Amino acid sequence: MIDLRSDTVTMPSDAMRDAARDADVGDDVYGDDPTVNELEARAADLVGTEDALYVPTGTMGNQIAARTHTQRGQEILVDDQAHVVKWELGGLAQLSGLQVRTVDCGERAVPTPEQVRTNLVAEDLHRPGTGLLSLENTHNSRGGVAVPVEHVEAAAEAAHAHDVPVHLDGARVFNAAIALDVDPKELVEPVDSVMFCLSKGLGAPVGSIVAGTEEFVARARRTRKLLGGGMRQAGIIAAPGLLALDNVDRLADDHANAQALADGLDDLPGLSVADPDTNIVVVDSEGAGMTGDAFAEACTEAGVGCGAFGEHTTRFCTNWDVSREDVDAAVDRIARVVA
Ligand SMILES: *Cc1c(COP(=O)(O)O)cnc(C)c1O
Repeated sequence: MIDLRSDTVTMPSDAMRDAARDADVGDDVYGDDPTVNELEARAADLVGTEDALYVPTGTMGNQIAARTHTQRGQEILVDDQAHVVKWELGGLAQLSGLQVRTVDCGERAVPTPEQVRTNLVAEDLHRPGTGLLSLENTHNSRGGVAVPVEHVEAAAEAAHAHDVPVHLDGARVFNAAIALDVDPKELVEPVDSVMFCLSKGLGAPVGSIVAGTEEFVARARRTRKLLGGGMRQAGIIAAPGLLALDNVDRLADDHANAQALADGLDDLPGLSVADPDTNIVVVDSEGAGMTGDAFAEACTEAGVGCGAFGEHTTRFCTNWDVSREDVDAAVDRIARVVA
């Protein structure tokens, strides 16, 4: 199986397994785990924030950020295709008591300043007030779109003008930075908090980071404890995460492989593939008379793992465990599916 279901399916390297076994550890709830402390310091440094917090998953990281920034009953403003809305079990409502106001951001993937201004709600006797604007970069459901710094800045400035803080779901923020050829700090500078995943593309078996100011991270640490995310000798899983931070530059290989995959599949009869910005390739199989479900199932049977994405679309995600040869082989196998 050439597994292109996700960039999370990668197996930890021998170096990561060795690092886990040999990690210096302590009780992280007491702040005693030197490996977690090192990871948090390096992660903050990488994205240019004062501090950072190690969390088990990206989902928990986003939910911690939302809860830490807001008061129950407020609104959160977010793109209607955002991960926090589509794939986190309504956690914004369940865990933070937030009312979700969505906007359709289209190909831009983040709201325009105008969309922010017209959808912010000022608190009064009848209206709850907007507590947070949440952005996503790269944008998963919109096809791995890398949102340029100017668009992040414009949306954030519009929210800040009304004293509304901004969170960035940057599960794949390093993919965005590589694709845009900017320092990840530039993508994070306009926002008040960021979440990014160590387990997507970077090869770590587990773990994500929430980063922001010292004051924000101190409060986020309490929210993490509340949600049951205070971990003990977590250096065992943080040690591979430290190695993952060295793997940012290799995301360029995933992007090149995604482009090769897109080009190869777009040449096949009945398939139409948008040019990928990053490592996510979205294939439209309507021309081959196949729904996303049917196409994904047929590809999987032919030995290429992928997932239905929409009615006629399927997502392929290049990753560390997939080489250029694998990509070429995947195109050959899919050619037989549509032949
Ligand atoms: C994967 C993902 C998450 C959640 O991360 P998990 O570690 O799977 O919980 C959040 N946001 C985006 C955009 C993602 O792609």
